[in-house]
Amino acid sequence: MRALVCGAGIAGLTLAWHLERAGWDVELVERAAAFRDSGYMIDFYGPGAEVAARMGLGQRLRELRHEVNEIGYVDRDGRTTSRLALPPGMYEITSLLRGDLARAVAGQVRSPVRYGVTVDGVEQDSGGVRVLLSDGTRRDADLLVGADGVHSRVRELVFGPGERFLRHLGHHVAAYLLDDEELHRRVGVRYRMLTVPGRMAGAYAVHGGRLAMMFLYREADPAAPADPAAVLRERYAGLGWILPEVLRRCPDPPELYHDQVSQVEMDEWSRGRVVLLGDACQAVSLFAGHGASMAMAGARVLAEELGASGGVPAAAERYAARMRGPVERVQRFGRRFVKWMAPPSRARIVARDAVLRLAALPGAGRLLVGRLGPGADDLFRASPRRPEA
Ligand SMILES: Cc1cc2nc3c(=O)[nH]c(=O)nc-3n(C[C@H](O)[C@H](O)[C@H](O)COP(=O)(O)OP(=O)(O)OC[C@H]3O[C@@H](n4cnc5c(N)ncnc54)[C@H](O)[C@@H]3O)c2cc1C
Repeated sequence: MRALVCGAGIAGLTLAWHLERAGWDVELVERAAAFRDSGYMIDFYGPGAEVAARMGLGQRLRELRHEVNEIGYVDRDGRTTSRLALPPGMYEITSLLRGDLARAVAGQVRSPVRYGVTVDGVEQDSGGVRVLLSDGTRRDADLLVGADGVHSRVRELVFGPGERFLRHLGHHVAAYLLDDEELHRRVGVRYRMLTVPGRMAGAYAVHGGRLAMMFLYREADPAAPADPAAVLRERYAGLGWILPEVLRRCPDPPELYHDQVSQVEMDEWSRGRVVLLGDACQAVSLFAGHGASMAMAGARVLAEELGASGGVPAAAERYAARMRGPVERVQRFGRRFVKWMAPPSRARIVARDAVLRLAALPGAGRLLVGRLGPGADDLFRASPRRPEA
């Protein structure tokens, strides 16, 4: 059986890993010119961590994780206003750079990745799917997977324009990595955030004397600005802390990641032999904090269903039926979390600080984090927990 996967991100690579091991002939096409290392810090836990462990990646991810012993908010002078200590291992959350997670998975994938290539046309009948690629070549496959993110091209070609499926959550997000020993030292092994109504900036110190910066700001218009670095400098001007220096050195895309914050909601995740995976069909948004984990979970569930009998279209429908409920629950959680992560008012910031102080009480934080999302048992078929690599 032959699969073409569009998008070599976390979802596409995880699916390729599973299909290869089930004897499929897999090829990936990726729009970026080379492997995408850029990105932002993610908290990785739940079903995706279980998938990674079963892929034999547990040790590698432990090596790549970044120590974060505290999350806290600061004021314009860098003084802490509220904080939550994170004793090692307490929450079973691994803080990783998105690019490091993707690279760890990619390191185990044998299938070829064609960089700088996307899908330009799709036709299918009961016998197979015929795909036109942007380099002018064609592929015949049993399965085409759109694992090409929130603004999926495969989704646009087969299901319709993105606006029909994107729920804009009223914010834009930006992120980049910065090399700076001195700022790295000032931030320390903590996640530091500064919030004023409608704007949030966060900094993690990561290995190699770097900072992972993240900016989140209210913006009703989902359209991407022409010059995102200029927008950040304008929106965050005068907010103090480390921001003048980090914004002075803000790169342009592609080193600067910038996008609207949105969720993807679709009634159908597959049409015949064309199947969507990861953010392309189930984006939960950074507010929910589960996207990478759910993308890996989706890849495993799809592989499980393709491995059962009944043909590709039926397997794709069973995969969607299994994933939809857990994804919708995470999406609802994400929408409720918007006002806490990006407080719209001064009063909400005060309330958020009070909640964080409460969470610092013994046992309360564990309760909070433990309720965030579905467990592996909700999603996967029973199978031994040992690595399957
Ligand atoms: C700031 C931020 C913080 C986040 N924090 C967390 C967190 O704490 N925990 C968590 O689990 N998740 C988090 N997420 C979400 C997580 O990063 C995503 O859900 C996850 O990366 C989705 O993986 P994916 O492979 O489906 O999509 P993507 O990561 O978007 O990968 C899609 C791939 O397809 C490629 N592509 C795009 N278009 C095309 C095309 N036309 N043709 C070919 N290839 C194409 C892209 O270049 C990319 O390589 C966060 C996201 C953001 C933005």
